[in-house]
Amino acid sequence: MIRIIGGGLAGCEAAWQAASRGVRVTLYEMRPVRSTAVHKTDRLAELVCSNSFRGDKLDNAVGLLKEEMRRLGSLVMRAAEESRVPAGAALAVDRDRFAGSVTRTIAEHPLITVAREEVTAIPDSSARQPVIVATGPLTSAALSADIARIVGSDHLYFYDAISPIVLAETIDRARVFRQSRWNRDVRGAGCAVRGSADSPAPPSCGGDDGQGDYLNCPMTLDEYQRFYDALVHAESATVHDFDKEKFFEGCLPIEVMAHRGVDTLRFGPMKPVGLTDPRTGRQPYAAVQLRQDNLAADHFSLVGFQTQLKWAEQARVLRMIPGLEQAEFVRYGMVHRNTYVNGPMVLAETWQVRSRPSLLFAGQMSGVEGYVESAASGLLAGLNAAALATGRPVSAPPRATAIGALAYYASHADPAHYDPSNITFGIMEPLLRPPRGKLDRKVAMANRALDALGDWMQAHAESAV
Ligand SMILES: Cc1cc2nc3c(=O)[nH]c(=O)nc-3n(C[C@H](O)[C@H](O)[C@H](O)COP(=O)(O)OP(=O)(O)OC[C@H]3O[C@@H](n4cnc5c(N)ncnc54)[C@H](O)[C@@H]3O)c2cc1C
Repeated sequence: MIRIIGGGLAGCEAAWQAASRGVRVTLYEMRPVRSTAVHKTDRLAELVCSNSFRGDKLDNAVGLLKEEMRRLGSLVMRAAEESRVPAGAALAVDRDRFAGSVTRTIAEHPLITVAREEVTAIPDSSARQPVIVATGPLTSAALSADIARIVGSDHLYFYDAISPIVLAETIDRARVFRQSRWNRDVRGAGCAVRGSADSPAPPSCGGDDGQGDYLNCPMTLDEYQRFYDALVHAESATVHDFDKEKFFEGCLPIEVMAHRGVDTLRFGPMKPVGLTDPRTGRQPYAAVQLRQDNLAADHFSLVGFQTQLKWAEQARVLRMIPGLEQAEFVRYGMVHRNTYVNGPMVLAETWQVRSRPSLLFAGQMSGVEGYVESAASGLLAGLNAAALATGRPVSAPPRATAIGALAYYASHADPAHYDPSNITFGIMEPLLRPPRGKLDRKVAMANRALDALGDWMQAHAESAV
């Protein structure tokens, strides 16, 4: 029997993987008995911010990670496909449908019991009765204290900020244009990666509607400068109880980016490259992208616009964006806590605690960053916990795979400067003879990864897959 604490992306994926291998699981989820500052429902696998699982092409590391997860029978990937909404070359979902699908599947599994209670201390574990902690970035205070006791001073906190969402009908369609960057749909070059007899062409290789899935708010030089000035002078919310403000580099608030230099945003979330304004026939000076946030298409989120500005300031400054002059905000951006362990100090690449192998960490808590990465670590932790429970050897896929590279990074990076990471090709094992072109290199890495995963799955057919 396995006990899993936390019914988020990682906990649900781990439960599914273990139960699919015939192991009984109890999944503890504290909502709705006790909620977090950010979750809104009692559903399992609730997406707390963006509805995007990011890129879905195989020339993109997170696209590759998703394909590996599909081949490993991921529940999160299956539910995401079922609830997919248009998002160009990305995989975005209707959040209600997604969480509903995961919740139903877990509840209906005969080997999984869901206990709705807060776990305040890590339960005893043993080789045949392992425990997985997957309580996420907003782990409750009591359990955080117990984790700190077990992992020691490596238990850290840092902070992220989330993007605002606007009501679609309040966007001025005369000022914005619909287009995906580079007109990229999901039928492009990334699909050059091979399938296999067991896993043919990636299911992600469908087309979009051809019109592009993003609404783009184009800016002239003057408009950008006025917006920039307003942003750097706007008032931020005071963050009282934050003992240490440390943001994840890939999720910086726009005002923090703006303070780094006048062009930082134009090279970040406001970059205009790959966009052509149909009214001028030219690339705008800067652009803000809006992405559909739910299936009904009545909510759009501002892509990459995490912010901790005061809400009134957000309304004032963001309404300077062309097309958002009358925007109504369904949700404002905000700052949140992020709790995680220092992976390289604590974990092995199987997601086991080195000093206590019957205890595993998974998800954001284990020192990875992002929905897909969290689910991926849950997948592997679930496989390994199932292996322990049935007396079989634990294992991690090779570093040539995205899922193996992520596990290796989280357990072997420099602990003195550890930052949770999204998956990138940069943390995967380099190619011995890399092709010249950037795209060819990525495709070669993806092909090698899928071959390596196939070999690993075959070698561990009994113990893991
Ligand atoms: C505000 C916010 C915005 C974010 N935005 C994004 C984003 O846009 N894109 C992205 O990729 N990632 C984002 N993240 C990171 C995101 O949380 C993770 O990528 C992902 O949700 C982590 O999955 P998880 O399973 O580790 O944690 P979660 O999905 O948070 O699941 C953990 C679960 O554990 C439960 N729990 C906590 N403590 C206990 C306890 N003591 N007992 C029982 N249950 C407990 C919680 O209620 C929760 O359901 C954001 C995080 C936050 C907090």
